[in-house]
Amino acid sequence: MLETNLERIKHNLETLSSFNSTPGKGYTRLSFSPEHRKALDFLSKACESMGFEVMIDPVGNFRAKLKGSDPGAPPIMCGSHIDTVLYGGKLDGAAGVVAALEALTVIKEQNVPIRHSLEFIAFVEEEGASFGGGLIGSKALVGKYTVEDLKNLTNDEGLSFYEAAKNFGLNPDELEDYVLRKGDVKALLELHIEQGNVLYTKSIPLGIVEAIVGIKQLAVTLTGKANHAGTTPMNLRRDALVAASNIISFVEHCAKHEAFDTTVATVGKIWCFPNVTNVIPGKVTFTIDIRDIKTEGIQRVEQLIKEEVKRISDERGLQYSVNLVGESDPVKLSEKVVSVIQRVAEKLNVNFLRMNSGAGHDSALLTEVTDVGMIFVPSIEGISHAPEEDTEYEDLKTGCDVLLNALVDLAQ
Ligand SMILES: [Zn+2]
Repeated sequence: MLETNLERIKHNLETLSSFNSTPGKGYTRLSFSPEHRKALDFLSKACESMGFEVMIDPVGNFRAKLKGSDPGAPPIMCGSHIDTVLYGGKLDGAAGVVAALEALTVIKEQNVPIRHSLEFIAFVEEEGASFGGGLIGSKALVGKYTVEDLKNLTNDEGLSFYEAAKNFGLNPDELEDYVLRKGDVKALLELHIEQGNVLYTKSIPLGIVEAIVGIKQLAVTLTGKANHAGTTPMNLRRDALVAASNIISFVEHCAKHEAFDTTVATVGKIWCFPNVTNVIPGKVTFTIDIRDIKTEGIQRVEQLIKEEVKRISDERGLQYSVNLVGESDPVKLSEKVVSVIQRVAEKLNVNFLRMNSGAGHDSALLTEVTDVGMIFVPSIEGISHAPEEDTEYEDLKTGCDVLLNALVDLAQ
């Protein structure tokens, strides 16, 4: 069995995590930022020095190819995303990017014979930290987002993904030519940190993902009446923030008690207007993120929340709207690829757990066009999307070794 180089993995991870716009406050590498540019330059250099064919697609997905012996055989893709959340950790996305780069590097260095080409991919804007919704690079790659959609995805300053990509030197108008269809790719493998505490708690170094949760994100806006906090009696108020707080409590209750034990729901972002100490809040917008591996769990929670938004708004004389921000369906990964990963883990004597992913991943989108497998490595204390996010290097190397050998198995 082949082995990855831990020193090189460490070095590449440290380099990638140095492209960070918030040093000392976690890791931030937003799409189309100067840090994103530096990360792409770093990957380009690393890949070109190995003789891989480098290309950045019209939306900003970084791709590099190690050619196989059969030019007619569809390639096998491997990678993860290069962006982070605001003040996030150094491994979310980056671990899989470095792991894929390492796997291809070892295969090239050791002249391992491969029939299928291997394609390294670093997806753009997975987190949706700038343009909302998330998974934009993978959605564009499988044809779920058109050029028009890219024009409608905007950041907090009103700049569209389309414009931002153009300003970054890309040509999003050419997207259509790069969309993957069924059969274009033989398989896709992604290594990712678990971002939960299942593996860590059980002291199991490897997770083999069988299914990825579906996600629905909503934005709720409640409009009441802003007024003087001193002169307006309590019974004459239409306070949007108090109504929002009732709904937020209901969101927790609902996911906890009204659906399945796999259902989760979160309110993570809120805007209060005018956001002034001595003014009754006249308008509040907040987001709701609902997830489950069962579609019915998501649907049930969404329905109950919508009913509660209406009930509370009517009761308090508020106007309301509930808008869909983004959604993805729960997906099952390829049993074929899962069993290849499992076989490799068994050969390497690695203890593993077959599990579900509570986080969304680019891999989920790729199931529409190819066979997908995912490898999880443990997150210390289950922490992610935070500066403390970490994985024992030993576990990361185990994951990289499994990824490398599974890729070779699939490519031969
Ligand atoms: Zn991620």
